[in-house]
Amino acid sequence: EASLQNEDSTSVLKDDKGFKGHDMLAPFTAGWQSSDLHPLVIEKSQGSYVYDSNGRKYLDSLAGLWCTALGGNEPRLVAAAVAQLNTLPFYHSFWNRTTKPSLDLAKELLETFTASKMAKVFFTNSGSEANDTQVKLVWYYNNALGRPNKKKFIARAKSYHGSTLIAASLSGLPALHQKFDLPAPFVLHTDCPHYWRFHLPGETEEEFSTRLANNLEELILKEGPETIAAFIAEPVMGAGGVITPPATYFEKIQAVVKKYDILFIADEVICAFGRLGTMFGCDKYNIKPDLVSVAKALSSAYMPIGAVLVSPKVSDVIYSQSNKLGTFSHGFTYSGHPVSCAVAAEALKIYKERNIAEQVQNIAPRFQDGLKAFSDSPIIGEIRGTGLILGTEFTDNKSPNDPFPSEWGIGAYFGAQCEKHGMLVRVAGDNIMMSPPFIITPEEVDELISIYGKALKATEERVEELKSQ
Ligand code: PMP
Repeated sequence: EASLQNEDSTSVLKDDKGFKGHDMLAPFTAGWQSSDLHPLVIEKSQGSYVYDSNGRKYLDSLAGLWCTALGGNEPRLVAAAVAQLNTLPFYHSFWNRTTKPSLDLAKELLETFTASKMAKVFFTNSGSEANDTQVKLVWYYNNALGRPNKKKFIARAKSYHGSTLIAASLSGLPALHQKFDLPAPFVLHTDCPHYWRFHLPGETEEEFSTRLANNLEELILKEGPETIAAFIAEPVMGAGGVITPPATYFEKIQAVVKKYDILFIADEVICAFGRLGTMFGCDKYNIKPDLVSVAKALSSAYMPIGAVLVSPKVSDVIYSQSNKLGTFSHGFTYSGHPVSCAVAAEALKIYKERNIAEQVQNIAPRFQDGLKAFSDSPIIGEIRGTGLILGTEFTDNKSPNDPFPSEWGIGAYFGAQCEKHGMLVRVAGDNIMMSPPFIITPEEVDELISIYGKALKATEERVEELKSQ
C-alpha cells in the first residue's frame, strides 16, 4: 500500500528555474509540486496523442484518465455537442421535466447493457457522483423495504471508486482515507483479489478465490447479514494497480452476496464500453449486477457525464412505494445535461457502428503480448492486464515482498523516462498503468512498446547504479 501513496508521476526531468508556482489547488498533486515544478500543460490532442504547450508530442497511454476512448479529435462528438449547444444548451431533469437527449440516452444505455436486466438510468456528472448515488439509492431501497439496519457496504482493499466523501470511503486506498478522516463507518473492506501478491504457497487461483469468498462470508456473518446492504467491485481494478480477477473469483463472490440478499454493484467506470474487449466488464466475467456505475468512456470524456443503471429489483420498489415514499429527493443540476447526453449518445452510436469491443479484442494481443514480453526484466515483479488495460509493478527479486526503497523513486523514474521519449503513463509509487484509447493503431501500439522498452532499459540501469552505491 505504501507505494500507492506516492502519486508523483511527471515533471522530474523539467528545468524549473524561476518558476513561481501556479494558482490551482490541483487534484492528486502535492503542494510542493504545484509550487516548485512547472506543470505539464497539455494544449491539443489528436488521435492517440496529446501536445504540450511547447509543442511536444506524447503518446497518451492512459487515454487522459482512462477515458478518451475515441481519442483526441473525434469530429462526430464535437458536432453532436455543437448541434445540441445550438438547440438547447441546458435544461434540467427535475420535477418530471427533462430533455430529449437525456431520455434518448437512457433508453440507449439500457439497450446496451445486457449482462443482467436493467430498468432505469440515473444521470450524474462523474463516476464519484454515480457511486455516491448508489449508496443513497441502496439506503432508500432498504428504507422502503422496512429494513433500516441493512445499510453497510462492503468494498475491497485497493479499489478505487472516486473521491467524494462516500466514493472515497468505498475506495480501498489508504491515501484517500488518511488525513481526510475516512472511511465513513458504514464501509467495510474485504480482500483485494490480487493472486500474485496475496496467494498462499501452493494455492491455485481457484483455491485463492474460494478463500476470498469464504473470508467475505465470514465478514458478513460477523457483522450480521441483516446489516449488510451491498457489495461493490470494479470488474478489473484500475487505479489500485490494474488487478484482473483470479479464475472463478466473481462466480464465488456473487454466490455469497446473493445468499445473504446483498445487492451487487458493478463499478464499470473504467471497464465499460469496450476497454476489456467486451462491451462491459460484467460481460467478460459473467457478473449479474443489481446496479452499475458508468462514466468516462460513456462520452469518451468529451463532456462530463456518469450514470447509474438500476435493475427492476431496485427500481420496482422505488416506483411501487412512491405513494408512501414521496419524491426521490436526490439529483444534480446537471443530471442528464443535454449536451453531455447528446455527446454520449453519439459515442455509443460510434461504439456500435465500429464494433468497438471487437476492435479492442483484435488489437489487444499486440498490446498485451508485446508488453508482457518484458516480464523477464529483473526489476519487474508482475505485468498484468487484459484488453487495452495493463499494469506493471516494479519489485526486486521478482517478488511481491521485495519492494524497492521508496526513496529510489523507481516508478517515477520510469515515468519520467517515458515522458522523455514521448509518452505519458500513469505512475503510482512503483506501479505503472496504461489504458490507451480504443482507436489506437497497430503502429501506435508498436511505438508504445518501443518507448516502454527504452524506459525500462534506462530504469534497469538506474537500479543497477543505485544498488552499487
Ligand atoms: N470508479 C472507478 C473505477 C474509477 O476509476 C473512477 C475514476 N478513475 C471513479 C469511479 C471516479 O470517477 P470520477 O473521477 O469521474 O469521479
